[in-house]
Amino acid sequence: MKKFNGFFGCFGGSFVPEKLQVEMDKIEKAYFELKDNKKFISQINYIRKTYQGRETPLTFAQNLSDKIGGAKIYLKREDLNHTGAHKLNHAIAEALLAKYMGKKKIIAETGAGQHGVAMATAAAYLGLECEVHMGAIDIEKQRPNVLRMKLLGAKIVSVETGQKSLKEAVDSAFESYLNDTGNSLYCIGSVLGPHPYPSMVRDFQSVIGMEARKQMLEDVGCLPNHVVACVGGGSNAMGIFSGFVNDDKVNLYGVEPLGKGNKIGQHAASINFGKKAVMQGFRSLVVLDENDNPAPVHSIASGLDYPSVGPEHAYLNEIGRVKYTLIDDKECLNAFYTLSKTEGIIPALESAHAVAYAMKLAKICEKDEIILVNLSGRGDKDIEFVAEKYGV
Ligand SMILES: *Cc1c(COP(=O)(O)O)cnc(C)c1O
Repeated sequence: MKKFNGFFGCFGGSFVPEKLQVEMDKIEKAYFELKDNKKFISQINYIRKTYQGRETPLTFAQNLSDKIGGAKIYLKREDLNHTGAHKLNHAIAEALLAKYMGKKKIIAETGAGQHGVAMATAAAYLGLECEVHMGAIDIEKQRPNVLRMKLLGAKIVSVETGQKSLKEAVDSAFESYLNDTGNSLYCIGSVLGPHPYPSMVRDFQSVIGMEARKQMLEDVGCLPNHVVACVGGGSNAMGIFSGFVNDDKVNLYGVEPLGKGNKIGQHAASINFGKKAVMQGFRSLVVLDENDNPAPVHSIASGLDYPSVGPEHAYLNEIGRVKYTLIDDKECLNAFYTLSKTEGIIPALESAHAVAYAMKLAKICEKDEIILVNLSGRGDKDIEFVAEKYGV
């Protein structure tokens, strides 16, 4: 079989300076050796079970389903992972990879701070140093997560260039990594970046889809008709989709943030509005401004506002296997309130995008159809922002 070269159709690959490519090759080699290593797998499984809280439950949202009066909605409860979201799935695995590679330190970027918190947690647990690069503006906006990372022993590097946000944080983290490749591993926060990260992070997240498929068959007795997940970089979506992508009858939906509208600067919907371009070391669809530079993006959910998307999603869109839909800030908020009141589950604003689309879809489905939603995280991090801006 021909060795996978990191391309999903024309998307993906590795477009980095030669010195960094040498390191990407080493990471690829280490990962492909380890991914089938029994000790590595059993160690990850042990940590997932005894520390992270896996497997996560599958919850039938009966009240919500009754209220809408269409399809039955089920929730895969990634909000119940330690630290409150799916990100620990890849954070633990990336940190373990660093250990197997003999590294002492993890370098990561973070936007809203969720990936930073997950990495800092994994580093603390596995006895590694952790350095998190974060835009100065995000540091100001995301104080609780900054405090969390500090408590967990991470060093925060404030990034003062450009928009002082996620994109600059990625550049800064890569630069720091380049200066310390012997000692450290760069751990990316989604199915993004140069090969091997998109397929590696997908594999680490595929535990969601594997569990969900088994739970559907064993506890519900059939596969879902529809699977819905929100798409920022696309890791939680790839995680759940990977369990169902070979089941032709299961419809897959990725939900992108429409934000305040369809004009540049109002949304972060890279697949719906993006163009083919290379950014930060890989080719994908990128939201560009009139000068073909990555455009400013917006979503009420800060975990979704990145101007590009994982290359495998761009490919799944192109071949028509996944439908990429849109949910705006208002619809997201409505779902945030509705799920809280009907089910006693406060979803992350990111996850509320998936819930919002499931609510729309349920309405036009038959009563015996099943929609499975990946509830990627809990909304505790969002309640102050929502309460202050929109009330409770
Ligand atoms: C970070 C985050 C996301 C977006 O990241 P993906 O890589 O697209 O999954 C979604 N939901 C939650 C709860 C997050 O923290």
